[in-house]
This record gives sequence, structure tokens and C-alpha cells, in this order.
Amino acid sequence: MRQPGGILLVSCYELGHQPLGLALPLGFLEAAGFRPEAVDVSREPLNRARIASARLAALSVPMHTALRLGVRVAGLIRQENPSCHICLHGHYAALNADYLLSGPADSILAGECEASLVDLACSLEAGRDLSEVSGLSLPHRRAAPIRRRLRFVVPSRERLRPLANYASLEEESGIRIAGCVQASRGCLHLCRHCPIPPVYQGRFFVIPREVVLADIRRQVELGATHITFGDPDFLNGPGHSLALVAEMHRLFPFLTFDFTAKIEHLLKHASLLPKLKDAGCLFVVSAVESLSDRVLNILDKGHTRRDVETVLDLFQSARLTLRPSLVPFTPWSTPSDYSELLDFVQERDLVDAVEPVQFSVRRLIPPGSGLLDQPAMSPHLGALVPESFSYTWKHPDERMDRLHRRVSSEVEQAAHRREASEETFLRIRRICSEIIGRTAPAARSMTETVLRRHVPRLTESWFC
Ligand code: SF4
Repeated sequence: MRQPGGILLVSCYELGHQPLGLALPLGFLEAAGFRPEAVDVSREPLNRARIASARLAALSVPMHTALRLGVRVAGLIRQENPSCHICLHGHYAALNADYLLSGPADSILAGECEASLVDLACSLEAGRDLSEVSGLSLPHRRAAPIRRRLRFVVPSRERLRPLANYASLEEESGIRIAGCVQASRGCLHLCRHCPIPPVYQGRFFVIPREVVLADIRRQVELGATHITFGDPDFLNGPGHSLALVAEMHRLFPFLTFDFTAKIEHLLKHASLLPKLKDAGCLFVVSAVESLSDRVLNILDKGHTRRDVETVLDLFQSARLTLRPSLVPFTPWSTPSDYSELLDFVQERDLVDAVEPVQFSVRRLIPPGSGLLDQPAMSPHLGALVPESFSYTWKHPDERMDRLHRRVSSEVEQAAHRREASEETFLRIRRICSEIIGRTAPAARSMTETVLRRHVPRLTESWFC
């Protein structure tokens, strides 16, 4: 087990970033004397030699897309090396434990799980009973995700693929290498559609400032001039985050950064926006999701359409960019909601700030979702399809399902053509007016609006 490659770490997809799902387990396992191999299958093939030498394979599956790929990789490992223990770790592994432990996986870990991954390796090495590994779900027993503070180590990145292979920062002056760190994990909030609350149940854990700064330093040495804070919500602990970016700016004044925070936090901590901008913040991603107060209420998002408008005003005053993420297709979103969303994006000069894929996002309902026991969900809910890792649902207005199919296909083709987002937006407007029957505003006014500015972004659109 301690030989090079005795443990195989696999990342399946991490939103285009160099995977923390490899770097952090590598840091923990190396500190314990193991020498794992690490493969990011979103960037390189997994060859047979690496599979053959592994006694433990740990696959990081933080989200739906990653799990879909992860199950295929697990099948390949099972076929090539049947005695290798396969552990899947991450939010989506926990939500789908029953299905995964019926075949694709031997064990599941979730939450603050890296120390337990080390315990798993030690137990396999010593031939000990795996039931003693804290937080480890096995075919015959389920364990709760781990919600205990870890003694963090600095993520290990030396053997990962170069940062230049991953999402870069694109801005008016060109393209720059970007790195990604986390300053906290979990979340204080319980939004019903999010996969994090079933795992963290309203808790979050800060990663010590010195650990995060050491990780940033390493990525700067590897060429990064921009850092993405990949925390679920960077403003769950505003004091920690602000002190961190102040110190980062003192040490590396050339670094810019972006982070994700909910609308409610951006309103509550509006006074921090100028300080964040001064420390190098270029943009903030926020889960606007919908402009329908009814939908926002069902999702328990903690904000209203009016709050979104206020936050946009605050960002304009602070000369910062807000990049909204959306869930336009829910069982409760109406055709006019969709149309109004497009109007809003255009009127508020957000066309270049919203990735086209966001206009096609349809709410996934995984096992354990907080939406499952909502009365508003029951009329629409279909069966659980275990191998799809989600429940089916149908919109009461068939035009919305048709619109979703057309927009998804258009966005996918546009991404292959590397089409500019404003062109894709115009296509979506046309599809919308064709299916919903509303007239699209003139293309000319929108194009003029968009040409006025160039919004900073990462080069890879994200798919959950
Ligand atoms: S604030 Fe964001 S990360 Fe937290 S539960 Fe809501 S959607 Fe999930």
C-alpha cells in the first residue's frame, strides 16, 4: 500500500479547476507516509498500469457530472483489478450511497473526510475491520457524513497537471493562469435544492489562514496570477475571509481573485465590497437562481427579486462584476418567468456576465434533496432513477420541457463552436419567442449594450 501507486486517487470533474479532490487527499496521505498516484480523468486518460498497481482507489465525486464519470471509472477499475478497494468520496457519493454500495463502490466517505481516507488506507494495509473507520459507509452499514473539524494539511500539488491545463482568467487585457483554493467547506444555510445541506446540515468549517496562504503561495509559484476561492459561500465567515484576502493582498499585491457568495450575504455585508475590490476582487459568482419570488421561496433561497436588483446596484457602485448562476427550469417556473429573466439579463447589461449554460439549467432532485418533502414538489415528482442519481420530474406546461430541450441543445452546440455569449443569448431569445410566443427585443440594442464592456470570467463554463 505504501509503494508508489499503491493508492490511486482519481478526480472526475471539478468545474475546470485543478482538483482539490486530488490535492487535499494527496496532502493527507503523503503526510501519513503513502505515495499515491493522482489522475484527473477530465484532463488525462487513466491507463491500465496505474489501475493494476492500486490496492485502494479513491474517486472524488463532488457533483452530479463527476459522479456520472466516476461510476464509469469505478466500473473500469473493477474490471481490470477486481481486488482493488474502491471508495467514492464527496457530496454526490453520500447522496447516492445506497445505489453505489450495491455494486460500483466498496465504501463511501463524505464531509470532512480526508483523515478517514488515511484511516481507510491504514486499515486495508493492516487487514483491520473497516467498520472501525470513522464515517465510512459500507455495503452492510451506513455512516453519517463526517462533520468534525480536521487538522488540515497544505494540499499537495506538485504531481498534478500544470495549472495552465485548467480554467484560466479571461479579461479585457488577455488570459492569465488561475489557481483555486478553499478557505472553508460546508455551509451555514439550508437551501432546499442544494446538495451541501444533506451532507453538512448547516455547518461549515474554516480552513486555517496559514494553510490557505501556503496553498496560494504554491499556486503562485506554479504560475497563478488569479485565485478562485472555491468555498460554497465565501461569506459564511466574513471575518476569516476578509483577513485572508487582506493578507493575500499584502503578500501578493499582483493577485486578483473571485469568490462565490449568496445574495443574502452580499446584501448583509455590502460594506465589505469596496474592501474586497481593493484587495483584488474581480468578480463574484452568486446563485441568483430565479427572479420569481414564488420559486425563490420554495427553494428557501433567502432572497427576493428586489434583493437581486439591490445587489446589482451595489456592485455597480463598487465597480465590481456580479456573475449570476441560474436555475431557470424548476417545476414552478412559468414561461413568462423565463421570458422575464431574459428581459432582465438584457436590461441590466448582464448578457456577458451570465454563462449561456446557465439558461439551460434544469433542477436536479438527487436522493436526500430538501425538496423531496416539500408539498409544492409532490404533484411533479416522478420515480427515483438510481443510475441517474436523481428523481424524474415533469413540468405541468409541456412548453417548458420543450424549451429546456431546445435551449440545452443550442447551448451545447454553441459551446462547441466557441460562440460569443451574446450570439448564443440572441439564439435563446429566438427559441423562447418561438415556443412561448413573445417577441424578442431587437438584436441591435442588445449588441450595443454588450459591446460597451468586457466582463472578467473563467474560461470554462461550469456544469454541476
Ligand atoms: S447558500 Fe449556497 S452553498 Fe449554502 S446551502 Fe444555499 S446554495 Fe448551498
